[in-house]
Amino acid sequence: MRQLSGAALTDATGCGTIRAMRKLLSCLLVLVFGVMAAQGRVKVASLHPLLSEMAQAVGGEQVEVVNLFPKGADLHTFNPTAADLARARDTALVLACGMGVEPYLDDLKDSLPSVSVVEPGKSIPPVYLPGTQQADPHWWNAPQNMKRASRVLMQELMSRAPAQKTVFRAGQKAYAAEMDALDREARVALGRLPQESRVLVAAHAAMGHFGKAYGFRQVAVHGIAQESEGDTATMARLLRSLRELRVRCIFTEATGSPRAMETLAGQVGAATRPLVMDGIHPEMRAYREIFNFNIRNIVDGLGQTR
Ligand SMILES: [Zn+2]
Repeated sequence: MRQLSGAALTDATGCGTIRAMRKLLSCLLVLVFGVMAAQGRVKVASLHPLLSEMAQAVGGEQVEVVNLFPKGADLHTFNPTAADLARARDTALVLACGMGVEPYLDDLKDSLPSVSVVEPGKSIPPVYLPGTQQADPHWWNAPQNMKRASRVLMQELMSRAPAQKTVFRAGQKAYAAEMDALDREARVALGRLPQESRVLVAAHAAMGHFGKAYGFRQVAVHGIAQESEGDTATMARLLRSLRELRVRCIFTEATGSPRAMETLAGQVGAATRPLVMDGIHPEMRAYREIFNFNIRNIVDGLGQTR
């Protein structure tokens, strides 16, 4: 008892007071640094590698980007796991493509009620598949759309960290300048292609935004997703149409099996070239790299004589 009393007495005076003060000080420091960190860096989760790159470009060191899209996954079949969602729980916002690319988005919003979901795709004017009311969701295939999306992202970041407005504005300006340069370079390269060869026969309906930006007609062999299949009558009509158009090249998925498209190309006497249509490739992470890869293959494939 005497020992306990002594300990209690010591706590109430010298050492106990110092310990309490130290504890209070360390709590205050954590609080101060936490507020500083919260004011300085915005944690952003992203559901597409190109959006991760955009967030990093616009936010610079003032954002921390958590890429939720796993390497090697398919954009149209990916569904985030509970572990993926847990990584997004303490973020300020989740960046999604929108336009129906992420059919799981409502479930994600329910799972992360305190996190804002931002869909830059909502700011992009829709491009409908010919003869349908179905909008092509692959808006990233045109740099001017990426530029527009980066403005949406900048506003979101500014509203969360107003003290860093200058940084975000400069990041977006540099990103927009890069998109303008890509757009200009693409127009020069594509300008060599004659009007009659400007037909993009692609494995899935992913080049609508590209076609609208650069004056190409899109013929989609399948639907929006890579795994969609056409029926026999549709395929027969397609073959007739491709022969009539004297299509020079058929574009395959750079990340999928080219066999079906190669067979089709053989049937109509066309060449094949790969395109990265979903903006995702295991070796190419930068938008510039992916977009230029597509431009090179389109110019090369459609520039051939028949
Ligand atoms: Zn796609």
